[in-house]
Amino acid sequence: MGRTAGFRMNPIRVIPLRVDPSPEQTMERFDPIAALARARHEFGEHGGVNMSIETSTTFTVLDPHQMPELFSGHLGPETGRDGCYLYGRHFNPTVYVLGRQLAAIEGTEAAYCTASGLGAISSVIVQLCGHGDHVVSSATIYGGTFALLHDFLPAKTAVTTTFVDTCDLAAVEAAMTDRTRILYVETLSNPTLRVADIPKLAAIAHRRGAKLVVDNTFSPLIVSPARLGADVVVHSMTKFINGASDFIAGAVCGTKVLINSMMDVHTGALMLLGPTMDPRAAFEISMRLPHLGIRMMEHSRRAQTFAERLSERGLEVVYPGLPSHPQHELLRTLMNPEFGFGGIFGIQIDDPERTNRLMQCLQNEQNFGWIAVSLGYFDTLMSLSAASTSSELDPDSQKAAGIAPGYLRVSIGYSGSIEQRWQQMVRALERVGM
Ligand SMILES: *Cc1c(COP(=O)(O)O)cnc(C)c1O
Repeated sequence: MGRTAGFRMNPIRVIPLRVDPSPEQTMERFDPIAALARARHEFGEHGGVNMSIETSTTFTVLDPHQMPELFSGHLGPETGRDGCYLYGRHFNPTVYVLGRQLAAIEGTEAAYCTASGLGAISSVIVQLCGHGDHVVSSATIYGGTFALLHDFLPAKTAVTTTFVDTCDLAAVEAAMTDRTRILYVETLSNPTLRVADIPKLAAIAHRRGAKLVVDNTFSPLIVSPARLGADVVVHSMTKFINGASDFIAGAVCGTKVLINSMMDVHTGALMLLGPTMDPRAAFEISMRLPHLGIRMMEHSRRAQTFAERLSERGLEVVYPGLPSHPQHELLRTLMNPEFGFGGIFGIQIDDPERTNRLMQCLQNEQNFGWIAVSLGYFDTLMSLSAASTSSELDPDSQKAAGIAPGYLRVSIGYSGSIEQRWQQMVRALERVGM
C-alpha cells in the first residue's frame, strides 16, 4: 500500500530563537510581538494561511529502527535531530507549534503547552524538586498554587515551602536553605498586584543554586521574565493569553534541557503525570495569539482609566499603573512599555458585605460585568478575593498578603465603550454609597 507520510512533507523544523539571556542581551530591548511574528510561519498542509490541526494520537515511523531512538529521546522535537513524532502525550505537532510561539513571546529556548496552568506549575515543581527538597515562595500567589505548595506537596512528596514577602529581599535571602531548589513568584501577584523584582530575585536564587520560577499569567507581553533572569516562566493560558474564557490551558517556558527533561519517558513530569493539551485547543489558542498584544494594550488602557478615576473619587485602588502603587517605578524599569500596566486592578474595601452589594449592583442592575472568578476575559470579571481565589489562604495568611476582607478584584474587559462602562460604575457606586 503506497502512502505519503505527513512528516516527509512537513518535517519537524526547529526554529532557532535568539534567546541567550546573557547580561548584554538582556540590556537590548526584547520585543515579544516581533519574536512571535518571526515564529509564526507555519502553513496548513494545503498551503492555507493557518496551520492544520494534527489530531492523531499516534504517528507512523517509516523506518522501524527509528522507534528506539524516539523512545530514548535522541530523535524528535527539541533534540536538534529531525524525525517523526512518537505519541500525542509526548509531542503533538499542533501543540508543539503553539509551544514554539509561547517560547517566542517569552524569549525562551523552548516551551511546552499543558492542559491547565496548574498542570504546568505542578509539573515544573515536581521536576525541579526531589523528595524532601525546599521551595521559597511569595506569600501572595494564586490560591491553587498556594494549596499545592502548602498542603499537597508536603503531604505527598515531603517538598516543603517557606512563604515570604518576596518584596523583602532580605527575607527571601534568609529563607533560602541548602535544600532550596526553587524560588517561586508571580510577576504581578494575585490578587494584590505586588511586582516581583525579577533581576534581584534571580541573583539571589542563582547564588544559592536554585532556579527562579515566575508565573507570568497576569502580565503576558508586559513583562518578559526570562529576559530579566528567570529560569522558568509558567502561564495559565486560561486567562489573558486565550482571552475568551473558553479553554483551560497552561504553558512551561524554559531551556531546551528543561523541556526535554520534562518529556523524558522515564523521569519527565509532563510525560508521566500527563497534563497533555488537546491539539484542537492548541489550534484555537494559537489563532488568538496574533491579537494578544492589541488586547493587552486595551485591557491596560481601560484599567489605567478606571484606576485613575476611582482613585480621584477617593477609593483605595491597587493598580501598578498608579504612581501611588509601591512598585510603580520598579515595574516601569522591568516592563515592555507599549503594553501598559495590565488589565487587573483591586479596590481595598473593609466590609465584604459592601463589596457584595457593589458587585451585585454592577452585575444585576448595570450589566457592567460578571461576578466570576478568572480573568483576562473580554468582558469584565469581578470577585471578592477572600471568598474565592484566595480562600485557600487562612485569614492570617490573607492579612500577611495584604488582602482586605472585602478586597474586590476586577479584571477589566474591553467590551462596550469606556464612557458607557464608567457611567455604569458610577451609578453602582452611588447606589452603595461609595
Ligand atoms: C488561574 C491561575 C493559575 C491556574 O491556572 P489554571 O489554568 O486554572 O490551571 C495559576 N496562576 C495564576 C496567577 C492564575 O491566575
